[in-house]
Amino acid sequence: MTTTQDPAPTQTLPQPIDADALRVKYRHERDKRLRIDGNEQYVQPTGRFAQYLHDPYVERVERAPLFDEVTVAFIGGGFAGLVTGARLKQAGIDDVRIIDKGGDFGGTWYWNRYPGAQCDTAAFVYLPLLEETGHMPSEKYTHGPEILEHCGRIAKHFGLYDNACLSTEVTSVAWDDSVHRWIIRTDRGDVMRAKFLAMGTGPLHRPKLPGIDGIERFGGHSFHTSRWDYDYTGGDPAGAPMTELAHKRVGIIGTGATAVQCIPHLARAAGELFVFQRTPSSIDVRNNHAIDADWFSTLEQGWQEQWLRNFTLLQTGGFADEDLVKDGWTDISKRIRDKLFSGPNPEFTPEAFERAYHDSDDEKMTEIRQRVDSIITDPATAESAKPWYRQLCKRPCFHDEYLDAYNHENTHLIDTDGKGVERIDETGVWANGQHYELDLLIYASGFEVGTELRRRAGYETHGRDDVTLSDAWGEGMVSLHGIHVHRFPNMFIVGPTQGANLISNIPHNLTEAGATIAAIVKHALAMDADEVEVSEAVQHDWVRRLETGGRRFGNQPDCTPGYYNNEGKGATPAGLRNSLGYPEGPLAYFDYITQWRTSGDFDGLEFRSPGQRDGRR
Ligand code: NDP
Repeated sequence: MTTTQDPAPTQTLPQPIDADALRVKYRHERDKRLRIDGNEQYVQPTGRFAQYLHDPYVERVERAPLFDEVTVAFIGGGFAGLVTGARLKQAGIDDVRIIDKGGDFGGTWYWNRYPGAQCDTAAFVYLPLLEETGHMPSEKYTHGPEILEHCGRIAKHFGLYDNACLSTEVTSVAWDDSVHRWIIRTDRGDVMRAKFLAMGTGPLHRPKLPGIDGIERFGGHSFHTSRWDYDYTGGDPAGAPMTELAHKRVGIIGTGATAVQCIPHLARAAGELFVFQRTPSSIDVRNNHAIDADWFSTLEQGWQEQWLRNFTLLQTGGFADEDLVKDGWTDISKRIRDKLFSGPNPEFTPEAFERAYHDSDDEKMTEIRQRVDSIITDPATAESAKPWYRQLCKRPCFHDEYLDAYNHENTHLIDTDGKGVERIDETGVWANGQHYELDLLIYASGFEVGTELRRRAGYETHGRDDVTLSDAWGEGMVSLHGIHVHRFPNMFIVGPTQGANLISNIPHNLTEAGATIAAIVKHALAMDADEVEVSEAVQHDWVRRLETGGRRFGNQPDCTPGYYNNEGKGATPAGLRNSLGYPEGPLAYFDYITQWRTSGDFDGLEFRSPGQRDGRR
């Protein structure tokens, strides 16, 4: 099975690489970006910045508050809610209510409608439930509108709109021990009850703003990329020209994955565009292409599971006869593996792996810097756009138009040499001691990822005896399988952490969690259990097992700062727990959890029926 259209992203490397000189350069570039304020450099869009959270995509329709009860309430209408809702429905549990502050399903894809939004993970593995919904992705890396449409398709296909509460923000959830129900309060005045509560609230829905001096003073127009104001810019999420910007001076702060995708569109539309850069992203080849319907029709039943396993295996250093996805993600792991096997006597020690990782990364990053030189014609701009760190220090980007945007006469890369924007005033932005007058200022400054749970989620979860989830996780996340938390009965978390922790394809983690939760709820209902909970001992053992296995995402203090490494501060003990994954790797976890949920034993969980509750603690 192959698309035949997918060349692996490789380039040629002419001169030898001086690895020691690179290390020195990387350290120098990192050091000048380290700041003592870390995550505190960002401000939340609340209070006087609350307008940055306004939903520009739908009109809020008033409705009467709800005081009813459902079997399962799910907070979050992104992929986590959709795939869990789908699996619950398939398991025969019809009474499912998904609650989301957005006006429709989609989660991060509901909010992120900036021009050029696209997923960097191949659609065949990224878009969940393709076979069940009968959808053929139109291109290898689908754009935002198609992803959002797919979210709606899943919701329709599985009847998830029927009982949904959209444009509804949860304000608190609390377990009521006297009735064995979760009580959910919202900004609509709802006080709903649910037998089971699941939460898939992800980190990419809460925008953050840079805490730049004077940010509140700007008198022009401004918005965060996750609340794109097409009324102001013209155009649409499908990429129609933003005609209203033709005579405007536009500034954008940030050059992360979001900015990389919208800057080519802004460069085409704006009168003048100023890109304020603190750290350049690494931009590898995209190689997108349309999907051939004839080829797609040859795929056999069960193909998506096969692609998912193949991608996960290759992306995490395993071997397969064929690379089905064949892209920048699988390329990273394949290069490391090839290095490991390049000598006559391959070694498989941690030191050999470390060496292979560094060598292949040096090659890859050298290629990426050479690519900058080959595309950007102005040598000074090209120099500024080169990333000096290892590829996985920051979110790797893949784009075929971004670098070329700097060849437009109207587009100016303002390199702040790691310092960032100095201040903002009524008329524009100060950087490198120079003032840039602007009509529009766009914040491509990212989302709350590494901050404390209460701040990221936007509401508090109160478990048994009024313990809060923030307190229970005060020293970092504790769970069984990343799903169950002691003292939070009948509650399920849906996310990658403390499970597979497969970062390159988040929906795969979610789909597995959804299937697991559906099996548990079905079992609980079948045996008339009104409480399902993990014991403290079982939870402790799971976390210990993950900690001793040492598989974590991020935590590279020697990397340039960003949300991958707690803004360069190195992970706190809590941060380490929040990034744990199954020691034997994602594929082994998926096998483990499939076996766990299909065995019917649900090892480690206590199912309590009305007559069995005494002496539970
Ligand atoms: P990021 O957090 O990745 O980027 C924020 C940007 O703002 C960085 O370039 C940062 O610089 C810059 N910044 C912050 N403060 C300042 C300042 N004071 N002055 C100048 N620049 C500043 O957010 P994104 O929205 O780009 O991406 C978030 C995540 O969303 C990605 O990591 C990815 O997981 C996901 N995503 C995925 C996409 C895909 O699949 N293609 C597309 C878009 C997003 P610095 O680097 O120095 O901190």
